[in-house]
Amino acid sequence: MSVSAFRLDHIGIAVSSIDQAVGLYEALGLKETRREIVESQEVRTAFLPIGDTRLELLEPVGSDSPVAKFLAKRGPGIHHICFAVPDLEGALADLRGRGFRLVHQSPVPGADGRRVAFLHPSAGQGVLIELSEGTSGS
Ligand code: ZN
Repeated sequence: MSVSAFRLDHIGIAVSSIDQAVGLYEALGLKETRREIVESQEVRTAFLPIGDTRLELLEPVGSDSPVAKFLAKRGPGIHHICFAVPDLEGALADLRGRGFRLVHQSPVPGADGRRVAFLHPSAGQGVLIELSEGTSGS
């Protein structure tokens, strides 16, 4: 798997209120197209397409959720970037083989019916990286 097969799928932004944050981005001309709760991550998500990519707003639904901890520690802001890959298992095996630390050794259910996996935060030099199986776009 070549890294050039990666495409920017979305940018994840941690917010304390999706309704408030959607108001901000809609005032900037974006439109929300999808909202759902992702049980595996304990978040409510909303997607707003922009160009070839999307913003993903993340509001925690439990006080123990990773996004709740992020908000408590760092406040609202950019939480992760997500690359779409055609073969997620292959990408994870490739990255593992090259020494990358992974949060998820195999795919977990993510937003949008996609299978996803996160790299360990220490692997991204300060950027939390999510991989999502599929092609980019809404
Ligand atoms: Zn995401």
